[in-house]
Amino acid sequence: MNTAARDAGLKLLREHALIAGAAIPAGANGIAVDDPATGEILGHIPDLGVAETDRAIQAAHDAFPAWSRSDPHKRAAFLREWARLIDENTEGLGALMALENGKPFEEAKGEVTYANGFIKWFAGEAERILGETQDTPLGHVILTFREAVGPCALITPWNFPAAMLTRKLGPAFAAGCTAVVKPASQTPFTAIALAELAYRAGLPKGALSVITGDAATIGGVLTASPLIRKLSFTGSTPIGRKLAEQCAPTLKRVSMELGGAAPLIVFEDADLDLAVAETIKGKFRNAGQTCVCPNRVYVQASVAEAYATKLAAEVAKIPVGPAFEDGVKVGPLIEDKAIAKVEDHLSRVQTSGGRVLTGGARHALGGRFFQPTVTLGGDDELFRHEETFGPLIPVFPFDTEEEALGKANDSEFGLASYLFTRDLDRAMRIGRHIEAGMIGINTGLISTAVAPFGGVKQSGYGREGSIHGIDEYVDIKQVTLALK
Ligand code: NAP
Repeated sequence: MNTAARDAGLKLLREHALIAGAAIPAGANGIAVDDPATGEILGHIPDLGVAETDRAIQAAHDAFPAWSRSDPHKRAAFLREWARLIDENTEGLGALMALENGKPFEEAKGEVTYANGFIKWFAGEAERILGETQDTPLGHVILTFREAVGPCALITPWNFPAAMLTRKLGPAFAAGCTAVVKPASQTPFTAIALAELAYRAGLPKGALSVITGDAATIGGVLTASPLIRKLSFTGSTPIGRKLAEQCAPTLKRVSMELGGAAPLIVFEDADLDLAVAETIKGKFRNAGQTCVCPNRVYVQASVAEAYATKLAAEVAKIPVGPAFEDGVKVGPLIEDKAIAKVEDHLSRVQTSGGRVLTGGARHALGGRFFQPTVTLGGDDELFRHEETFGPLIPVFPFDTEEEALGKANDSEFGLASYLFTRDLDRAMRIGRHIEAGMIGINTGLISTAVAPFGGVKQSGYGREGSIHGIDEYVDIKQVTLALK
């Protein structure tokens, strides 16, 4: 057990929210945050409501004119300084995240680096928010400017407590927006620590608040406010749908990064060892609690047994345990409900004829730990429509390319998908016809700061990261210039 790392995480834990840079302590009625590995209470966050959310919105509104008109090179310099401080605190931030989320410490540090990639990328983007010129048939010249949309509400989930936040704050600050953040109640401490570093890096007061408390109340105030001009939400599809509705009366710009049910297809010509290794990389990050992880694997019948047997043999070796144990690759699930969901999905695939090849039960460690599990066969319907969000890989054999594509697309979701084949024509054919925002061909890893991240259908709209990420935070203004 790495107790030094754990202590470094606890050192960054702050039991307060932040309104315009000022700490609001948790007080006697704070909300408890626990360590999913043990259930031990790590600390409390304040249970804030309407009045505090209004204050944060007002602060974001007041800070907006100066920040949005500031020199973009200064905003880039601020982002670079913030990134430097995050790099300096990678160990502590990773440990804090591991404590509140349960993901292995090494993986949590990896997320800090990934999260910081967005800040570094958008520091560069701040310096190239480009406009255009265009001659018109009337002899005028049109100049276009890309201007910050305004104060933003940013709501983030617990599964990537750092990256889901920096993927929004990086472009928001680069564009000149101010923000009110509502982090997930299960993992608020990482967001608060990142916000404190942002202020240390020189962010003007008011440009960022982190509000904790009842989600529906805070979300209600944020979405109803005419001062908030944009909502960016990452989380479940039902909540996303509700928030989009709440944004309609004030016609806010909205970005939605929602759930998925990613298919992973393995053809008989694929490199099976590679397919197995990449399936594991894609699936077991955060114990299978990621929106892009393969939710259902389709394997061509001629190699289904071989692939599933290799996969099960590798999955059986995955070390499970608490975040600070050496070598651990899969941690606990976030809450008891999550374990119950995995058990339900497992029993349903078994009832429909699926065989357990490895795992298949709660882990001997007890609590929220579940064995990494592989099944073969049974009915895939459930997995087309519901994310398992846990360490279960159901494998289903298929016969033809058409059948695999049909099954992949027969889902209301369209976030990520994966394809393993050595046939370039097939890769491109399927790649083009899969209904998803992101497709990994012969890889299980598709997320980086330089890739446009986002979905189609019920997985949402908008893109984060890449050269497109900044577009979510700017409006285009045209100025028509009549020249004599
Ligand atoms: P969730 O229940 O929708 O919660 C996400 C965030 O929304 C949390 O901060 C939550 O606050 C808040 N929230 C809940 N109800 C709300 C309401 N009525 N009004 C305003 N805010 C509200 O989702 P989750 O279980 O945390 O996250 C898992 C989901 O996120 C999965 O479906 C996953 O696929 C999706 N996800 C998508 C992406 C992507 O980029 N597409 C990335 C990661 C995760 P509380 O914590 O206080 O309830």
